[in-house]
Formats: sequence, C-alpha cells, structure tokens
Amino acid sequence: MLAWTGRVAVLGWLAVALVSAGGWYVTGTRIARIAGGGDLAPAAGALAAAVAVTLVWRWATDDRREASLSRGLCPVCDAPLEWRHEHADGHTRGLVAAECPRCAFAHAEEGDCPDCAA
Ligand SMILES: [Zn+2]
Ligand SMILES: [Zn+2]
Repeated sequence: MLAWTGRVAVLGWLAVALVSAGGWYVTGTRIARIAGGGDLAPAAGALAAAVAVTLVWRWATDDRREASLSRGLCPVCDAPLEWRHEHADGHTRGLVAAECPRCAFAHAEEGDCPDCAA
C-alpha cells in the first residue's frame, strides 16, 4: 500500500509531467513548423512531449527509490531491506549492499563507516 505522502508525491510528479509535456508539445510543434516541418510539426511536438514525460517519469522513479532506500525499505515491495556492509580493506572502497528478503531487489553503493578509515 502506498503511503499518503507517497500518493501526494505521485500526484505532484504527475502534475510536473503533464505541465512539461504540454510545454514541450507546444515548443516542439513551433520549432518543427519554423524548421519547415509543415504537417509533421504536431508529430514532432508529440515526440518532444513523450521524451519529456519519459524523463520526468525517470526522475520520479529515482525520487521514490531514493526515498524508500533512505527509510531502509524496498522500493519495489516496501519490505524492510537487509543491509550488509563490507569494510574497505585498503584495496577496495567500503561497500554498502541492501537486499530485499521478499523480492529480488538488490542495491549496492560505495560507502565507508568510521571503522573503514582505521
Ligand atoms: Zn566499514
Ligand atoms: Zn522487495
């Protein structure tokens, strides 16, 4: 179940996607018309809008993923993640890895702890 704040965030991102899609549709159509696109201009506008929506969707997904990870939850199924830390050993940097016990989600990033510096 999506938390209440999560739902608001989704609505906010949806609004951003719609506004940027509309803006890019108008801009793309205008540019294509100036460039001599003629009847193809609206298609170019639609293409620009589709690209804009894809970009915003990617940001929104990243945003939700970051928010879930920072709370220690799986971005896919919201189960608490199992965290694991490998200390830096002088050859490699420290590694922070998270695995979801419920689904196949896995996440790894470089990270040090106070012991790593020793
Ligand atoms: Zn460490
Ligand atoms: Zn999961």
